[in-house]
Amino acid sequence: MTTADVLSLPVEPLRIGGLVPMTTIDFPDHLSAVVFTRGCNLRCQYCYNTDLLQTSSRVGDMSWEDVLGFLDRRQGLLDSVVFSGGEPLLQKGLGAAMRDVNGMGFKVGLHTAGQVPERLQEILPHLDWVGLDIKGLPDDYPRITGTSTGDKGWQSLNILMEAGIPHEVRTTVHWGLTQPEKFNALADCLQKKGVQNFTVQRCRIKNCFNSELQESVLDPELEADLLKRASGKFERFAIR
Ligand code: SF4
Repeated sequence: MTTADVLSLPVEPLRIGGLVPMTTIDFPDHLSAVVFTRGCNLRCQYCYNTDLLQTSSRVGDMSWEDVLGFLDRRQGLLDSVVFSGGEPLLQKGLGAAMRDVNGMGFKVGLHTAGQVPERLQEILPHLDWVGLDIKGLPDDYPRITGTSTGDKGWQSLNILMEAGIPHEVRTTVHWGLTQPEKFNALADCLQKKGVQNFTVQRCRIKNCFNSELQESVLDPELEADLLKRASGKFERFAIR
């Protein structure tokens, strides 16, 4: 689906595949609820949210009205609502849902792979924090995600940086998909762009999209050296 196709979709309610009522880890220093939207245009080999990849709803899915009812009962108890997925930017109703959340007094967080930069631009006024998944350099996307949409993710990074929205760039690393030299090149590129907050997420292969994906193994010394070198390039660096 092209960006033009996505933006021209008729207005539609959010398609929601799940809700986590309370978490401390999805928006730094905030007590949040997480809304998981359905649908993703990527097929990351290591994706473990596979039940959210398809857009069509399933029995038991919540409506946006259900979520609003839940949030109404949590006013004063939660700080923020994080939209995650899937790829939340695919949803035309995202801005309206975020407006609802702002109106209830909650801050708004977003987890995204930046796949619809135009929609990200549109919803900037609602955003308090973003966790942006950068899968690799644009040339790495076909191997890792099965798509050629790397430019979209990097465009979204530019938008966030220009807008000054607090954010964290995260990259999930499977050493079979992101070779050491590719990882170094990615860290260099993020540093040159001025990214200050970079997190490396270790790949979990249990129940992932590519059931044949093997454990992500690398010589421990080489891995430690790669991560140490990367850590020196950013003001804040974390491994998860
Ligand atoms: S890991 Fe990749 S395929 Fe899975 S939801 Fe996230 S962006 Fe989509």
